[in-house]
Amino acid sequence: MERSLSSSSEEREKTVEAFGWAARNSSGHLSPFVFPRRETGAEEVRVKVLYCGICHSDLHCLKNEWHSSIYPLVPGHEIVGEVSEKGSKVSKFNLGDRVGVGCIVDSCRACESCRDDQENYCAKAVATYNGVHHDGTINYGGYSDHIVVDERYAVKIPHTLPLASAAPLLCAGISVYSPMKYFGLAGPDKHIGIVGLGGLGHIGVRFAKAFGTRVTVVSSTPGKCKDALETLGADGFLVSTDEDQMKAAMGTMDGIIDTVSASHSILPLIGLLKSNGKLVLLGANEKPFDLSAFSLIIGRKSVAGSGIGGMKETQEMIDFAAEHGVKAETEIISMDYVNTAMDRLAKGDVRYRFVIDIANTLASTRS
Ligand code: NAP
Ligand code: ZN
Repeated sequence: MERSLSSSSEEREKTVEAFGWAARNSSGHLSPFVFPRRETGAEEVRVKVLYCGICHSDLHCLKNEWHSSIYPLVPGHEIVGEVSEKGSKVSKFNLGDRVGVGCIVDSCRACESCRDDQENYCAKAVATYNGVHHDGTINYGGYSDHIVVDERYAVKIPHTLPLASAAPLLCAGISVYSPMKYFGLAGPDKHIGIVGLGGLGHIGVRFAKAFGTRVTVVSSTPGKCKDALETLGADGFLVSTDEDQMKAAMGTMDGIIDTVSASHSILPLIGLLKSNGKLVLLGANEKPFDLSAFSLIIGRKSVAGSGIGGMKETQEMIDFAAEHGVKAETEIISMDYVNTAMDRLAKGDVRYRFVIDIANTLASTRS
């Protein structure tokens, strides 16, 4: 039965027990963890988590590679599930609706970015995990049985999208979709490069093809060529360490989406751009890049960054994905496989996104 709730301070102080897997320190090792979640507020929904994707950002955070991790840390920001409870003022969702929750669960709602539907660039945006809720509690992510979120920061998942392969769209999907649109790289008259064929990269190829864009994968792994061309539909494949191949492709791309998670050289990538071309950095490695002024001056090129997307654009991306059949290639795993999955992800050994089957495998890990 539908349960309407108010957000009186008395109710907000109550909590509901939640269960997930957390890392306790920068070893990143995950293990079972019981913790409190707040009561569902008037404008919030409680989401029963069904699947959660494993983003490389989860791995960066688990290992404290960005020097900001708060432990215990429950990762997970590629969350899909269904509404199990809703507050009295919720208008967007009904009980049982299929919903997605991505990287942010709040923002100031008043600044220029928030007013422009770019909550992702709000200086006060609150991360789904490793972020601090306005009541001072630490947020825990989707490697858990349920999550409570303001309806503004949840999106609807159309029935035509299979849930498990939709989960990675909530972070990887929007992170590649948004810059392709913003930087004018989506369309049949464009040729783009996608550097790094991992979670973000492979969805990037699929969105590019759905936009009608010509896309070349630039990869450090020659063994991914067949898959890139035949399974994902890329138009070309370059091995980034093959100087002859890289030289032959110089000056051919309107834009590049760089998703590499590790330190790497960007000068050869800038060389691939045509005049006015844009290299967009998505990979969140904290080491500084090599860059020379002349590499940009000659040809008026630019290097930019991009981070996820706003809530309106995230819904637009999900609807576009449903309409065009864009989905992730997944390896669906059980909760107790997560540490092995992290080891494999660190080595680039995943095709192309691990997704945890939370609904069917989490509860049995509770002793
Ligand atoms: P992933 O699945 O691990 O893919 C990263 C890919 O980078 C690998 O598959 C590999 O592709 C390539 N790579 C890895 N190490 C490399 C190296 N040393 N040299 C050259 N290439 C290397 O990771 P992901 O989940 O797609 O995330 C990628 C990065 O984006 C992470 O840093 C993550 O934190 C960040 N991220 C950013 C945003 C954003 O909004 N900006 C959002 C989500 C994630 P090849 O084998 O094809 O070379
Ligand atoms: Zn992510």
